[in-house]
Amino acid sequence: MSGFNLLHLVTKSQPVALKACGLPSGTRRKKKTWPRTFPPEELRTRLTPAQYHVTQERGTESAFTGEYHDCHADGTYTCVVCSAPLFRSDKKFDSGSGWPSFCDLIKDESVALSDDFSYGMHRVETSCSQCGAHLGHLFDDGPKPTGKRYCINSASLGFQPKEQPPRGDGGQAAGTSPPAAATEL
Ligand SMILES: [Zn+2]
Repeated sequence: MSGFNLLHLVTKSQPVALKACGLPSGTRRKKKTWPRTFPPEELRTRLTPAQYHVTQERGTESAFTGEYHDCHADGTYTCVVCSAPLFRSDKKFDSGSGWPSFCDLIKDESVALSDDFSYGMHRVETSCSQCGAHLGHLFDDGPKPTGKRYCINSASLGFQPKEQPPRGDGGQAAGTSPPAAATEL
């Protein structure tokens, strides 16, 4: 986890009580900058309310309710905000937690780790290293050999089914040409 030190300084979400201090909406103060940023207005229209809440407000979906906790398809899980590839389906395992769980990343640098002391406990928060979207948490009780359990909200993820390589001949079906009018002369 070479990125840990650099990514240590994540501004915590302020308690709800501080929200009424007159800041114009949309000016959440975030000192940390990410390689990719998206205007909140765009995200509010592009994402579902649950996706926005989890990724932008560090929310947590209810266990066993997410789209992918019971998904076993082959493919790649991506960041729902910026589409960065995060996890592959062959690293997904059934943790019984009700959230999609992975024992490894596609690349170490694809996820940023930070300390999370919310709810009176210490957890390691996982975020997309490209756009900062909140993903979930990392625990050390995963299966061997990594021993890691990336406990991720479905709402933070997109899914790209594994592409089947084109096989056989046939090629592209020429279905786009408009039907020619029959000319019988
Ligand atoms: Zn992202």
